Amino acid sequence: MKFAQEFKKQLQQEGFPQKWVDSAIPYGQLKKCLKRVTNELQELGLDKDTLAQLAAAQSSASAASESQHGFLYLLDEEPSKTRHLRPRLTVFVHLEDGVAVDATLSPATRDFLGKIASRGSSGSPTFSNASSAEEGAPSDLAAPSQDNFNEKSGRIQAPESVSHFSSVQKIEVPLVFDGEFFDILQTDVSNLDVLQDEEQQRMKRDVIALGQDISKATKPSAGKKAKDDLTKWRDIFELYLDARVFFSTRESDHGARSSAQALKQLQWFQQEVLKRRLVQGLKLKESREAFNRFINVNAVLLQNLKFQEINQIAVRKILKKFDKRTSLGVAKTFPVAVHSQRLLAGSIAKDLCAQVSSEVIATIPQLDDYLCPICFAIAYWPIRLHCEHVFCSRCLVKMQRKGERFCPLCRGDVIMKAGSENFDTAHAEFLKEYFPKEVKEKIRANELERGKEIFGPDYTDRPCCVM
Ligand SMILES: [Zn+2]
Ligand SMILES: [Zn+2]
Repeated sequence: MKFAQEFKKQLQQEGFPQKWVDSAIPYGQLKKCLKRVTNELQELGLDKDTLAQLAAAQSSASAASESQHGFLYLLDEEPSKTRHLRPRLTVFVHLEDGVAVDATLSPATRDFLGKIASRGSSGSPTFSNASSAEEGAPSDLAAPSQDNFNEKSGRIQAPESVSHFSSVQKIEVPLVFDGEFFDILQTDVSNLDVLQDEEQQRMKRDVIALGQDISKATKPSAGKKAKDDLTKWRDIFELYLDARVFFSTRESDHGARSSAQALKQLQWFQQEVLKRRLVQGLKLKESREAFNRFINVNAVLLQNLKFQEINQIAVRKILKKFDKRTSLGVAKTFPVAVHSQRLLAGSIAKDLCAQVSSEVIATIPQLDDYLCPICFAIAYWPIRLHCEHVFCSRCLVKMQRKGERFCPLCRGDVIMKAGSENFDTAHAEFLKEYFPKEVKEKIRANELERGKEIFGPDYTDRPCCVM
């Protein structure tokens, strides 16, 4: 299938909002405009083969004489219209007695170049040395306008001074339709950036509201159901983090995922949640609703990613087509010159994923974030050292007994200086509230260990021994 049709079909079938479809890259319109660019170049004798020859001459030339060969096609910023590109084609022509002499060029091209050079050279012709060719400001030599060119066409005017010299001239070729092409493309890319920005703001608000609702519903102080749901949410988010839906942190496939990969990961997550009956296990209506919203946020994010992806492909394809028809090499230069904070920067997934982690996932404290870095059990009783690192009281006591002075995480001289003032009571309350099971287990383990220290290795924590 041709890309134009494929693109249209995807836009229709993916269920994108109409507003998105309307702002998609106007591939068909660009293709028509490209045709006009091609015709324009052909009329000037600068068809794709001629330009390819000039490009080849340029790349084979030595660095010193580079400016004497080929052409330059620059996409500069339009000074009057901010953020718009003004394409400029500059051709370097060898002239002998006012006639273009590059044997590889077709007669029509040489004819054209001769004509345009004669008009441009009326000011100050540049002679056969590369540096002087470089000095001449392109605008001085540029053909002033298309009209002017037509007026004078058919007349080869070789100023006397040039006739005895072989010279190299830098000539700006007057083109109209390439400007139109890049105008359409840049305008559309900018509009898509705005659209994506709006979408992102909207989703941000949804994500923040969702985070607040989950946090409210699962506050352990709200009762038994909230406590039970908190455990379920913890399992749900643990699975979600494992799924790495939009980003992989694994070394083998590090980085952003394609929408197809993200879809697969999201499906895996949903299947696992179903398999483990986690949603059915949610006791509060608010929790179940919040889960649906969470899935919805992911689905919208996925849709945004997909839309961005197919538009990026459309831009790549049309630039490739442009180069194929003109040999002007814009596939490399346009992505550098274009102003796009979003569409071509591809940051939407990254920004929103960070938002989801900080606003939603973080509302459910994960055990991993509250472990003692020495014994890897929950850091209870928590001791916050002067360096702000938190350890469990048992591990601190053991370090002090061994006379260790330095924090194993930051090497700060803080261990022997720690005392009862380092008990973090507020943090202890938080741990008891959010991880009651783990705290109970840790207290039991601590007591058993202490009992063995006092009463010997046969000590057990049978119910009669422990209060
Ligand atoms: Zn510990
Ligand atoms: Zn430390």
